[in-house]
Amino acid sequence: FTSKLPHTETTIFTTMSALAKDYQALNLSQGFPNYPSDQRLIDLVSAAMNNGYNQYAPMAGNLDLRLAIAHKYDVLYKQHYHPEKEITVTAGATQAIFTVISAFIKSGDEVVVFKPAYDCYEPAVKVQGGTVVPVQLTAPDYKVNWETVASKISDKTKMIIINTPHNPSGTIWSESDMLQLQKLTANTDIIVLSDEVYEHIVFDDAQHQSVCLFQDLKQRSFITASFGKTFHNTGWKVGYCCAPDYLMAEFRKVHQYNVFSVHHPTQKGIADYMQDENTYLSLPTFFQRKRDLFLNLISESRFQFQPAQGTYFQVLDYSAITDQGDVEFAKHLTKVFKIASIPLSVFNLNQQDDQVLRFCFAKTDDTLLKAAEILKSI
Ligand code: PMP
Ligand code: GLN
Repeated sequence: FTSKLPHTETTIFTTMSALAKDYQALNLSQGFPNYPSDQRLIDLVSAAMNNGYNQYAPMAGNLDLRLAIAHKYDVLYKQHYHPEKEITVTAGATQAIFTVISAFIKSGDEVVVFKPAYDCYEPAVKVQGGTVVPVQLTAPDYKVNWETVASKISDKTKMIIINTPHNPSGTIWSESDMLQLQKLTANTDIIVLSDEVYEHIVFDDAQHQSVCLFQDLKQRSFITASFGKTFHNTGWKVGYCCAPDYLMAEFRKVHQYNVFSVHHPTQKGIADYMQDENTYLSLPTFFQRKRDLFLNLISESRFQFQPAQGTYFQVLDYSAITDQGDVEFAKHLTKVFKIASIPLSVFNLNQQDDQVLRFCFAKTDDTLLKAAEILKSI
């Protein structure tokens, strides 16, 4: 056979987590918390199991959960998504993203992707025969030049994938960015895939700019989201997507034959948990404290940084320390200094190397203290 993805290698998250394990290093690479989920949520999921939620969920997801998600959009954005027709629960954001791309992209289609980009977008486009049209953004502020973006749009452009708050850079898009995107896509058939898995993790009183706040964008967009990121349990792999009904109908044609439905008791447990709005409204404060703690602790290190505006990732510039390439340096730090991070070049066009590493601060305070001690010693 001919490989459909001849150049796709093992994801950096697997590589760095495995290296961290082999060298018994602190793992600030792959993005997951090392503190437990809220016991109340765990109890609600096990109660759902004890209360008979053990058979297939409806194809689009447990209805209580879809109602809770719809309520969240009302509370946070004053925007409505219809729980029956416009919200689908998925096996994490990854499946939502893959399914959106599978449902709309075919051979010859072009998809605009901003680099550095989270690594699941590109293979999903390629496996459908589509072509990724990259727009490279550059450290430290990763600002979008909208004239450049406009120059990449052609009649082959079927989709634009955006991600704010942005993994891996920790930057967020402004209202002006969203308005530019809205202007650029007006009167086109372009679908926007808006990966908003970090919607609740924004700092310094910034407002998350969801596509749903911009009416013309909302009409052409999928939002993808992850309960793993929101409720600190990435291993549960439950997420969802929202879109206007004419788009969601196409999504479900693929979804019903891809997974049909996902883990039912977890959905019911999360639905019950979300009845208390504070479970998601408290997240910016929770993560801001972690970010501030981490940055205060490393302020006297030789790493330089602009504080993350969102996500639970902090990018650190190590150019004052060495000329080494970022992949090599990340491996060196893991093996010798016992701290693992993610090199950003792997997400860039032509592996552009800005000499920056990404560290996950969704960690216990104790881990952050230990990490800072190490980083100050480098
Ligand atoms: N998009 C981004 C930007 C991510 O960082 C992640 C990782 N959580 C995902 C999508 C995938 O989310 P999930 O683990 O729910 O599949
Ligand atoms: N989203 C996580 C990160 O950015 C990784 C998820 C994965 O390992 N696929 O670190």
